[in-house]
Amino acid sequence: MSVTSAANAAYIVAALLFIRALAGLSRHESSRVGNMFGIAGMVVALAATLVYALGNESGSVTSIFPQNLPGGVHAPGLHAMSTLGVILLLLAVIAGAAIGLYRARVVAMTQMPELIALFHSFVGLAAVLVGWDGYLSIERRPHATEAQVFKLQGTFGIHHAEVFIGVFIGAVTFTGSIIAFLKLSARIKSNPLVLPGKNLLNLGSLAVFVGLTAWFVASPNLLALILVTLLALALGLHLVASIGGGDMPVVVSMLNSYSGWAAAASGFLLNNDALIITGALVGSSGAYLSYIMCKAMNRSFISVIAGGFGIEASSGEAKDYGEHREVNAETAAEMLAEAKSVIITPGYGMAVAQAQHGVAELTRKLRAKGVEVRFGIHPVAGRLPGHMNVLLAEAKVPYDIVLEMDEINDDFSDTDVVLVIGANDTVNPAASEEPGSPIAGMPVLHVWEAANVIVFKRSMASGYAGVQNPLFFRDNSAMLFGDAKERVEDILKAL
Ligand code: NDP
Repeated sequence: MSVTSAANAAYIVAALLFIRALAGLSRHESSRVGNMFGIAGMVVALAATLVYALGNESGSVTSIFPQNLPGGVHAPGLHAMSTLGVILLLLAVIAGAAIGLYRARVVAMTQMPELIALFHSFVGLAAVLVGWDGYLSIERRPHATEAQVFKLQGTFGIHHAEVFIGVFIGAVTFTGSIIAFLKLSARIKSNPLVLPGKNLLNLGSLAVFVGLTAWFVASPNLLALILVTLLALALGLHLVASIGGGDMPVVVSMLNSYSGWAAAASGFLLNNDALIITGALVGSSGAYLSYIMCKAMNRSFISVIAGGFGIEASSGEAKDYGEHREVNAETAAEMLAEAKSVIITPGYGMAVAQAQHGVAELTRKLRAKGVEVRFGIHPVAGRLPGHMNVLLAEAKVPYDIVLEMDEINDDFSDTDVVLVIGANDTVNPAASEEPGSPIAGMPVLHVWEAANVIVFKRSMASGYAGVQNPLFFRDNSAMLFGDAKERVEDILKAL
């Protein structure tokens, strides 16, 4: 077996491992094993790439050409990778792996989405660079004769389209992800940017892209490539900047999908099967995740990909909901001790306070006293899909009492006490009762239907979407102010 076919076989193995990883990641119980499959797949893919680079006599691993092009033409200008090239490749892999490992180890769970957004921007940037290199290396082809160029025309037509589409998707992903990173890390405000005629701007950009693609494929030129790069950079910026805070989860999964397609486009350019398959897996699973999130948040999928859907409903006016009531930890403990059924709805604040271990301990204590305790998880609670599930699993809360929003929403009316631990937007009744609210239409946990609601937070500040929460002012609600972890510990002591 030649080195090339061994490497290609290894790529297929890696792709299968990635598919197995995705399957594993779709359920709590199998997610750890799924992750292991993913790591194994990546190790196999990297090793195959290195072997390919070392052993391939007539082409570098970053070759944009298949070894034998249609019409019996052998790609010109390719050389075996030099020792220096291999050393550089290894250095890049080691440096990248070390930085990635370090960042992943030190990142706080609450900073995960911004880290992911930053990683997506790298994928986008890489796709832009690969696309530009794909174009420039054709321009630089040293020994191609007129006859070879003529024979290659057909392949080049496709190749130019690949360059163009790869650069476009990559550049949209790059700036879009940078804006998402800045918004998620609160370096810029999460308010939507409202430019006049924003939908027209987005649609117009797509039309210009189609026109530029036709021009570039017909007669490849540097100007068209520069124009499409600038256009896509501006479009990515505008798409994400014009989306409001409450809708950011969908944006993150959408950028995840875009980064997958950008990687797949690079895979076509580099003639690398593993990259094509992996990119397609990320692209399609990210698109499906966006679809699920859109459904969960009652948003139209099409308007999400068209960008800037979060603005229309915004009224922005501050309403006066009256006075709120406060309780202390001792009173909360008494209410819990007397309750028959309790539902805990955690949110971003539980992650910030790292209160999950105390919450798990409280759950154990209450269950030991015969109180029925369950958890209600909103699909966008926290700052990344599954955020709450991960924290609760880490604190060893049994999976079978952790229920999705749809599974538990009808049960609040039969519940004695709901503990809202650092959640805000996901329990905001304004979403279903106030059509003018920026989060109008988003399904929320109906906590206010319970007999008593205790809200753990530090102040009366609004949630991520920047919307005041009328729940806090209801007669059956009481605020338990302070850091969620400390308040949970106070309740544990009082119990
Ligand atoms: P929110 O972000 O709406 O609110 C969290 C609340 O926690 C805040 O009001 C804050 O109030 C409180 N809090 C913060 N720190 C502490 C602490 N140490 N102790 C106690 N309370 C604390 O949370 P939700 O989970 O309800 O909603 C998630 C929001 O994030 C949604 O708008 C969603 O769209 C968005 N989002 C979700 C993503 C996802 O994939 N899940 C990704 C990106 C955004 P205070 O400051 O007064 O303490």
